[in-house]
Amino acid sequence: MNDRWIDLHTHSTASDGSLTPLALVRYAAEKKLRAMALTDHDCVDGLDEAVAEGERLGIEVIPAVELSADHPDGTMHILGFFVDRRHEGFCGRLRRLQEARRERNPKIIQALQALGLEITYEEVIAASGGGQVGRPHFAKVLVQKGYVSSMQEAFERYLKKGAPGYVEKFRFGPPEAITAIHEAGGVAVLAHPFTLYKDHSVPLAPLLETLSQAGLDGMEVIYSTYSEEQARYYREQAERYHLLPSGGSDFHGAHKQGIDLGIGRGRLQVPFELLEPLRNRARTYPPSL
Ligand code: AMP
Ligand code: ZN
Ligand code: FE
Ligand code: FE
Repeated sequence: MNDRWIDLHTHSTASDGSLTPLALVRYAAEKKLRAMALTDHDCVDGLDEAVAEGERLGIEVIPAVELSADHPDGTMHILGFFVDRRHEGFCGRLRRLQEARRERNPKIIQALQALGLEITYEEVIAASGGGQVGRPHFAKVLVQKGYVSSMQEAFERYLKKGAPGYVEKFRFGPPEAITAIHEAGGVAVLAHPFTLYKDHSVPLAPLLETLSQAGLDGMEVIYSTYSEEQARYYREQAERYHLLPSGGSDFHGAHKQGIDLGIGRGRLQVPFELLEPLRNRARTYPPSL
């Protein structure tokens, strides 16, 4: 057993990954990871299965989630580690987000059909493997039908913010998302900060100041696609705002090409040492009744 490396950002078929929670944990064990967090979008449905399989195989599976939060410019995702997946208030909030997804998805279909693309919601549901339906599933169908040659092209041409098939959905504000995670006993960690602003020269400081005041605990300072310069910048910013460092691959299986579990594009290394401070911080947020 490799006791050094972990992966704190992964997706399963419960949201928009291509491996079932079971297969994902087995793959992590094969990769000899010491621990992994299952961080499906707005959903904890894969956690029971993943945690149980982790116990069986001797790899720690951290119960987690990735929430989309409202942000005027790019995309803000907040990871919650060590959440109580049975917490009633938290599950209620997740249901609200899942409802927003179900309202949005048919509108994406209408927008794509209005552009002349032949695509149905049934096809997208079939591509989703039974969990939450997300944009990567629309992308997968567009690739299968030959409208685009890659998932990336599907996002660029049709699905990303500002593209003609993009449809807004309800999200929590960042403070609400952070509080929801704390109430469920988890630590709140800002994921992949480079997606926050389309203009990457925007300084993060004012936003990090605000998020820290709202209770943000950590930031993803190790990530599959970071350049050395980005990694250095995020690490500095995390230190400056006393944010705990976190790291992960954002593995989606076949739904995100070129990113492998644990190793990202091949050189990712997330040390086990990052986990204990996150766990200890989570202990300071006992689940609310
Ligand atoms: P959704 O939550 O359904 O809006 O889908 C969000 C997911 O789509 C993200 O977590 C990514 O996996 C994927 N995604 C978003 N934007 C892009 C993009 N520009 N290129 C590729 N994948 C993307
Ligand atoms: Zn995703
Ligand atoms: Fe994300
Ligand atoms: Fe993710």
